[in-house]
Amino acid sequence: MIKNILIATTNPGKVREFSQMLNSHIEFVSLKDFPQTDEVKEDGSTFAENARKKALGYAQQTGLLTIADDSGLVIDALGGEPGVKSARFSGEKHANRGLLDHKNMAKVLELLKDVPMEKRTARFVCCLCVASPDKILIETQGTLEGFIGEKELGENGFGYDPIFFVPAKNKTVAQMDGAEKNSISHRGNAIRKLKPLLEKIIDNK
Ligand code: IMP
Repeated sequence: MIKNILIATTNPGKVREFSQMLNSHIEFVSLKDFPQTDEVKEDGSTFAENARKKALGYAQQTGLLTIADDSGLVIDALGGEPGVKSARFSGEKHANRGLLDHKNMAKVLELLKDVPMEKRTARFVCCLCVASPDKILIETQGTLEGFIGEKELGENGFGYDPIFFVPAKNKTVAQMDGAEKNSISHRGNAIRKLKPLLEKIIDNK
């Protein structure tokens, strides 16, 4: 009988999002509960590869069924960049998250400064993977389609949200509250696909 599932993150916001959306009788734990684990490097060339690597790596270290994710921004006019480099597009990861987000967005806006709006298509992508210590059990992917705006708009969210414009909502992701973002977001969509598959595994164990 499965009692605990590890969410392979130290970010309390992500743990909350997963446990609320998966809404199961299982207790979700995070890497904060396993400070002795070695970091699994996100050095794959795709989001799916990184999610797989993290899920298996942390499942093997903890012995727990593990959910891992990798996500980022894919911009068509930049040949798919920043992609798996989304977190560190403007340089190495920085202790000050807000500052890093602004630098990353400034780099994107500069690279796109001569690109007309109809060619600024982009998507957020989230890949999720569930693994036991010996194998990959589930993989899902969610996306959110939109355009890169010409300036930052909105105060909510994180990362590239202030420059990511969603035409169906006529606003950027940073102009949405958490519930509205979750209802359409790449991560929300990937978690909604994961839920019935995870329940099947839990019921059968
Ligand atoms: P990670 O998968 O949490 O490591 O995210 C990688 C990077 O992709 C983040 O640091 C952000 O720069 C970007 N990113 C991922 N998801 C989002 C989102 O929902 N909004 C804005 N940026 C995001």
